[in-house]
Order: sequence, then C-alpha cells, then structure tokens
Amino acid sequence: MAITKVWLDESNDECVSCGACEAVCGAVFSVPEKMVVKAGVDFSKYEADIKDAAESCPPGVIKFK
Ligand code: SF4
Repeated sequence: MAITKVWLDESNDECVSCGACEAVCGAVFSVPEKMVVKAGVDFSKYEADIKDAAESCPPGVIKFK
C-alpha cells in the first residue's frame, strides 16, 4: 500500500536530532532542530527511502502509513 502519511511520534521516545533521516532521504526529512516532515512531498516517490529512514532512526520515532 502506498505511503500517504509520515510523522514524528514522540509518545515513547524523542527525536535526538542525529540527522540520519535527512541523510537517508533529504527529500522528505529535514532536521533543523527536531525532525520535520517536509510539506507538499509526494511520499509515494520515496517509499523505499522512507522505510530505510525509519529503520535507521535510533529512537524509532519516524512513523508512516
Ligand atoms: S533519524 Fe530519528 S532521531 Fe535522528 S533526526 Fe531523524 S527522526 Fe530524529
């Protein structure tokens, strides 16, 4: 199923601003302080990278569906 939503979920752990997500997929993720998901991105173009970024996030706070 196509990814239609990507978000930062800090209900259990916090983003540690490591920049890994931006390094893996700078088209979707930006880390000015804590991670933000860029606006207006067609997530379906970056599905593999979004999954890789979520897996590479140390605290596991990147969620998508
Ligand atoms: S990889 Fe995870 S912890 Fe690191 S900046 Fe991105 S969201 Fe934050």
